[in-house]
Amino acid sequence: MTKRTKIVATLSSLHYDRKFIAALLEAGVNVFRLNTAHQTPEEMGEMIDKLREYAPDAALLIDTKGPELRTSAHGDDLDVVAGQPLEVFGDIQGVSRGSVLYLTSNRFLETISEGSKVLIDDGALELIVTVKKADSVICTPQTDGVIKRRKSVNIPGIPIDLPALSERDMEFLRIAAKKNVRFIAHSFVRTREDIIRVQEFMRGEGSDARIIAKIENQQGIDNIDQILDHAYGIMVARGDLGIEIPGECVPPAQRMIVKKCIESKKPVIIATQMLHTMIENPRPTRAEISDVANAIYQRVDAIMLSGETANGKYPLEAVQTMARIAEEIEKHTPKDLDQKLHRVSNPLLETLARMTVRACESMPIRAIIADTLTGRTARYLAAFRGQIPVYAMCYKEYIKRELQLSYGVEPFELPRYPSRDEFITHAVQKLLQKGKITNDDVILVLAGSFGSTNGASFIEICQVKNILATAAK
Ligand code: PEP
Repeated sequence: MTKRTKIVATLSSLHYDRKFIAALLEAGVNVFRLNTAHQTPEEMGEMIDKLREYAPDAALLIDTKGPELRTSAHGDDLDVVAGQPLEVFGDIQGVSRGSVLYLTSNRFLETISEGSKVLIDDGALELIVTVKKADSVICTPQTDGVIKRRKSVNIPGIPIDLPALSERDMEFLRIAAKKNVRFIAHSFVRTREDIIRVQEFMRGEGSDARIIAKIENQQGIDNIDQILDHAYGIMVARGDLGIEIPGECVPPAQRMIVKKCIESKKPVIIATQMLHTMIENPRPTRAEISDVANAIYQRVDAIMLSGETANGKYPLEAVQTMARIAEEIEKHTPKDLDQKLHRVSNPLLETLARMTVRACESMPIRAIIADTLTGRTARYLAAFRGQIPVYAMCYKEYIKRELQLSYGVEPFELPRYPSRDEFITHAVQKLLQKGKITNDDVILVLAGSFGSTNGASFIEICQVKNILATAAK
């Protein structure tokens, strides 16, 4: 497979046997996502152990619930009638009944106002606030419907001061830290403080897991620059985002976020409903194909499947479909050799990475070999979205897993060699062994002459057979 865009597949704790996982990997999955919304901490722990065994090279991503508001877990399902008022309170122990609805927190009362919209169950039911009282609001349902327990509640445009991490999130994160999971996708990130809170929590648990900020409301969009300063990457979580902001505002937000992520060398994932109808059908709609293609034209790092692989009828077909679209559309993605980069911590590396991608345009180079201790060299190269594969030689297993989320990067593990010549020879031998290059290929090496801790310092371009001939002398 030659696709350069990565695929994230969500798994359910009910379906992840060895054969299924092997088939998903073969079809092109790079990262497995476990959604804490749909499992217990024990189930997640068991899944992590099994996935490590079945897919040792894949990265795992744990998705938290974050600061969210829901309908109370206690009381009755409420039958509501359009126009008949409901009184809405906030208390996690509150019992909903009759025309009284409880939400899991009362913090929304601080910022909500008359005229605000309250959307229940992914927007299935809309309430409008007509009267604001000291400890409740009176709302008018816009349609008939049923409000069940534990359903999502969105109040678009109203910031709610909920803690970044719930007790439940912390339970899952403790397990993720203990089991060395690399990626945490944190839901409803609003500000840099949300990211810092999760990082600090993980550090306290002995983990330096990378935090992916899920952008799913207006506050997250407004604060994207400060969030990018702290997050490892971004997920455009279009499910909730499409409820929190008008649907037609999601595509421009996606485009803006993707551009900023590429410029900042931060992995960006596009999520939700990419091939939604494949939950039930073996073929996607033309509109879904266009949605996936659009993300690839925008040159995102990764595209994600949710229900399609977690509980759909055609999980394998969904991954194969994504991989085929990626392979085709990547042939037509625009190159940008003048790509602007921001947040550049190493200007020499920026220059060398830019020269690497330019050299691949003017010479018949078949592979880029990058020496990368922390993954940084590979991420700089990825930011230019070149067409030649970047084979990243890593020294640590967890760096290899991290790079599974970076565009066009295929990571390998290599022991550390004391000299540049030994590094090049062993890297080339590894790629020959794996069938990635041949003796006649011209390759480009981007590496460091002063030890791997000192970063990249040179580019070498040569034929594989010359490297091997020199090494044999
Ligand atoms: C989303 O809202 O798009 C998303 C990915 O989050 P979740 O699956 O947790 O709703």
